Amino acid sequence: MPLIEFTDKGLYCPPGNFYIDPWKGVDRAIITHAHSDHAKWGSKHYLCHHLTKPILETRLGPNDYQSIEWNVPIDMNGVKVSLHPAGHIIGSSQVRVECKGEVWVFSGDYKVENDGLSGAFEPVKCHNFITESTFG
Ligand SMILES: [Zn+2]
Repeated sequence: MPLIEFTDKGLYCPPGNFYIDPWKGVDRAIITHAHSDHAKWGSKHYLCHHLTKPILETRLGPNDYQSIEWNVPIDMNGVKVSLHPAGHIIGSSQVRVECKGEVWVFSGDYKVENDGLSGAFEPVKCHNFITESTFG
């Protein structure tokens, strides 16, 4: 079973029971960054980087938000989840998901050139890398 799969609501992690940047309302959403094509209204719980949280609060209104720092893993239903700088906009993050020794990373939008504001893109070792290709 893939650690992250594509569904009609967006990318889903079955063992962790969470979505990444879902485009429909879900119970638990991890948001890579606050652009409107990645952060949608209607989910019950949002997890994002500290710098993304105030933007989501402004854009999406009152919700259950949880924010974490880059490189500080948390446990979500037995799956180790951490955020890593994506360099796209302030707070933008890649999502690292680890379960039973297998590591998958979803890039979100990213930029490898350090703009001095967004956080320098961090290459993250993984077994499977799901990449956005809109921005380079
Ligand atoms: Zn974006």
